Amino acid sequence: MKARIAVLGGDGIGPEVVAEAVRVLQAVAQRHGHELALTPALFGGAAIDAHGDGLPPATLELCRGADAVLLGAIGGPRWSSPDAQLRPETALLRLRRELGVYANLRPVTVHAALRNASPLKAGVVDGVDFIFVRELTGGIYFGEKRRSETEATDVCTYSVTEVERITRTAGALARARRKRIVSIDKSNVLETSRLWRAVATRVVAEEFPDIALEHMLVDAAAMHLIRRPRDFDVLLTENMFGDILTDEASMLAGSLGVLPSASLGAASRGLYEPIHGSAPDIAGRGIANPIGTILSAALLLRHSLGLEAEAVAIEAAVSTALTDGARTADILGPGEKALTTREMGQRVLDALRDPR
Ligand code: NAD
Repeated sequence: MKARIAVLGGDGIGPEVVAEAVRVLQAVAQRHGHELALTPALFGGAAIDAHGDGLPPATLELCRGADAVLLGAIGGPRWSSPDAQLRPETALLRLRRELGVYANLRPVTVHAALRNASPLKAGVVDGVDFIFVRELTGGIYFGEKRRSETEATDVCTYSVTEVERITRTAGALARARRKRIVSIDKSNVLETSRLWRAVATRVVAEEFPDIALEHMLVDAAAMHLIRRPRDFDVLLTENMFGDILTDEASMLAGSLGVLPSASLGAASRGLYEPIHGSAPDIAGRGIANPIGTILSAALLLRHSLGLEAEAVAIEAAVSTALTDGARTADILGPGEKALTTREMGQRVLDALRDPR
């Protein structure tokens, strides 16, 4: 197949990790006979420096015309002073809105070779394999904001349509997995959560009768994610609860550096990025872990291009590299030697070319 992919390295370690994901995508394309046009563009702080705009028109045009967008990370201390006029984060929110992506998917799996990398006991994280479906464009982050001398207000709003469409995303995913959804809310206190619970219940009953739906209060979910993470399959959450719980859950896997994400909308075009930020503390040293970005490229093939076998090939290659002891500094065990970003990318490429 032929596909166009916009490649936005971004800032900090973004370009370093994206370079490895691009090499992996090129190798997969060559092996399976696909023509992937991978076109780079400036985005985030780098684009602010060059064009005075975090999302320049040329970058936006490229993304609009692409079948998928691969992103590294944006931001850094250089653009985050309290009086900064232009912020890279604003460019990311704009890009998500322009692409109409409303569902953020974050799979969390604990690779057997990394069972000791988590701060939790190996016995607790062994076999963890769940996916968050987080609503991305509604809720308190986007509601009206007011501030006076003496008080501040953030309005939280959800429409029936917003809850219906994200529940459908979760339902379709659950159907291809273990057929269980836990929907997370705070319905004992929040009106938006009571609406969320009612709509999720109706959509699952009417459209996904084969899926088991359980409701869980967000405070209990925070606890159960640590106590019995293996029990989860698909977790459905609104925007802010998802933001917080996904960072908590990332610790099960041991490092922010190994987890991918996909942001999807009604169209097949999606935005794919690792869950970590631009890591200014290690940027430019070539030591960042590229696995989260490489696995994001696998999600891109799966969700935007429909190339399931190719996605699985990348995931298997990552698994082989880790099983064989490939480690960057963030997932290093005692007595192990750290690879550079490029060397880790190469280990995945080697495993891809020589599958087990
Ligand atoms: P961060 O995720 O960049 O880094 C947190 C810690 O994890 C750091 O110690 C970092 O070195 C480490 N880390 C992250 N990714 C790693 C990788 N691939 N390999 C090895 N170690 C890795 O979070 P932060 O420090 O809070 O934020 C830094 C900047 O990134 C900020 O400007 C923030 O706004 C931005 N940010 C961007 C995104 C995004 O682009 N979507 C997401 C989160 C944060």
